[in-house]
Amino acid sequence: MFKTIEEIHLGYLNKDFCPSEVVKEYLKDIDKNEAKINSFVEIFREDLKDNAKKLDDQLGSDKLKKSLLFGIPLSLKDIFLVKNYKCSCGSKMLKDYISNYDSTVYERLNVQSSLIIGKNNMDEFAMGSSTETSFFGPTFNPWDLSRVPGGSSGGSAASVSAGTSCFSVGTDTGGSIRQPASFCGVVGLKPSYGRVSRFGMIAFSSSLDQAGPITQNVKDSAIVLDSISGFDPKDSTSINLPPTTIYESLVNDKYSLKDFKIGVPYDLLETGLDDEIRTNFENLIKNLENLGCKIIDIKIPNAKFSVATYYIIAPCEASSNLSRFDGIRYGYSDKNLDPKDLEEVYINNRSKGFGNEVKRRIMLGTYALSSGYYDAYYLKAVHAKKLITNDFNIAFNDVDCVISPTCPELPFKVGEKVNDPLKMYLSDILTIPANLAQLPSISIPISLSKNNLPLGLQLTSQKLDEEKLLKIAYSIEKEVGFNSHPSIL
Ligand code: GLN
Repeated sequence: MFKTIEEIHLGYLNKDFCPSEVVKEYLKDIDKNEAKINSFVEIFREDLKDNAKKLDDQLGSDKLKKSLLFGIPLSLKDIFLVKNYKCSCGSKMLKDYISNYDSTVYERLNVQSSLIIGKNNMDEFAMGSSTETSFFGPTFNPWDLSRVPGGSSGGSAASVSAGTSCFSVGTDTGGSIRQPASFCGVVGLKPSYGRVSRFGMIAFSSSLDQAGPITQNVKDSAIVLDSISGFDPKDSTSINLPPTTIYESLVNDKYSLKDFKIGVPYDLLETGLDDEIRTNFENLIKNLENLGCKIIDIKIPNAKFSVATYYIIAPCEASSNLSRFDGIRYGYSDKNLDPKDLEEVYINNRSKGFGNEVKRRIMLGTYALSSGYYDAYYLKAVHAKKLITNDFNIAFNDVDCVISPTCPELPFKVGEKVNDPLKMYLSDILTIPANLAQLPSISIPISLSKNNLPLGLQLTSQKLDEEKLLKIAYSIEKEVGFNSHPSIL
């Protein structure tokens, strides 16, 4: 349990164990924990065992030496297509949808002979911060089963934190990798927009969605990013760059915390932060200063408009992306309906197939894009997005990265916010700016609260500078030495 990618890889190289044995251990932990946390929507039990068996006699092959992911059991948020398996995106609308091709993320993991365990639970169509909007029921936080794991990649973060998968890949549109990583005490990286292909990843808000790793530590995060990144001609927004090679430089280059200038946007943190999170963050800053880090007070003046900007852009794009789910081309289709016209088909299938949060976003987006309102809302939001991006660019003249707590609050109770969308939306206040500015941003666990809940630190760097970002994160991780696991399972 809780072996990292590197540790399993080393175990294979030393022939301490073989893929079938590793997979058996994971399935044992799944049997023990999954009923309590509900982090998977499907487990590919038999295929997993068969695939592992095929690798057992390849431990002496070049494949193992060449790929750190050889025989590593992983899970994917149920937003990535895997051919011939269901992809439901947390929705009744797609509960029986079978993928007919592979997402690029899965394809790239698969060619490295990694082993997919199954698909992780998520908020419906990735809309949410708590994994409570899933059609398949909520996921529970392994650190305290009465609390949410965050969202929308809550199933991914919970399974990595509970040790039921070695790593997962999630998606982050406004914080959905980093916020659940913070709530579950694991590492979550949202790469720069365009770094990882979105091909075969169900779209929520196309100009913001980005896939990224949820792992147990920063080195594993680099390994997974190196494997899934790089240009993909099948995604027109994919950046024309080769895959990253950050793991090598993370372990081999010489650098220390003294080499980095770190910016803190104190004005953004003035209000709304939980007291324990604030004290903890301030202590960490003092520590970093003592270690020789240069800490600089920076301003991102327009970041205060981020949540408002996001909740125009994301619903607008979602309302357009989700129009394809009409019960004819895709999705839930009511067989008992005897419709009088086509409109009734749409209304009936969409009102029964989508949950409340998704309907709310479609209505918000449709309204904001309608004629007469487009200029006032959508266009204004696009301008605000530019201003926020400019603020970051100015800040990066003086600093290597920007840090803050990942979330303003500790993991909240199941049911606490699900009926109060505005409160829920504010959970993402610190994560959304990086999506709007297309920047790479990571959450790493730094400590536990008094009542044993994980606290996350967020670091954000310049676009496409994941290497520097991970170097700083790795340096801080080494100093902080967070090595705790949930004990209640
Ligand atoms: N919580 C945010 C929302 O509900 C972000 C979701 C995400 O990043 N996918 O839109």
